[in-house]
Amino acid sequence: MSIQTISLSGRKKQVANKKMSFIERLYLVAIFKGLATTLKHLFKKKVTISYPEEKRPFSDVYRGQHTLMRDEEGRERCTACGLCALSCPAEAITMKAAERKPEEKHLYREEKYAEIYEINMLRCIFCGLCEEACPKQAIYLTKSKKIVHADYSREHFIFGKEQLVMPLDAAIQNTQKLA
Ligand code: SF4
Ligand code: SF4
Repeated sequence: MSIQTISLSGRKKQVANKKMSFIERLYLVAIFKGLATTLKHLFKKKVTISYPEEKRPFSDVYRGQHTLMRDEEGRERCTACGLCALSCPAEAITMKAAERKPEEKHLYREEKYAEIYEINMLRCIFCGLCEEACPKQAIYLTKSKKIVHADYSREHFIFGKEQLVMPLDAAIQNTQKLA
């Protein structure tokens, strides 16, 4: 007794190992069918684009490369608490904390700051959990069109503070907008 299997998708086909006829062995029908498929797609609107010369518009909900934020006085918000690194499922974040010196009060908001802060962009899956975990509103996956570009070297994907910290003039512009 043969066991009948049910196709959940309804697309399952029984494969028969029957001998091909003379016409089938010429493959002409198959070739013309293939050509018809090619011709059908030839005049359709192309879904591919010539990136990087041509770029797609970004979605409104697009979130790109991270930014380490500054406060309204231009000081770095991050206090190197490590919660973002702990919450990161890809273990992409590493940092080294340092104590703020009295003369650095204008640079860092808290008494402790991230002397080194690195994100491995090859590991990052842009899930946004680091942003959710941060108690200081110090890290955001920015809405700007910043994307992580392709490169030939793995080292270039380790983004440090020089790539991540918000430029000072952007912080000033933000403050002016809020005022
Ligand atoms: S976006 Fe997600 S994967 Fe990337 S660094 Fe943040 S928590 Fe890790
Ligand atoms: S970005 Fe936020 S969560 Fe991560 S170390 Fe800095 S303050 Fe803590």
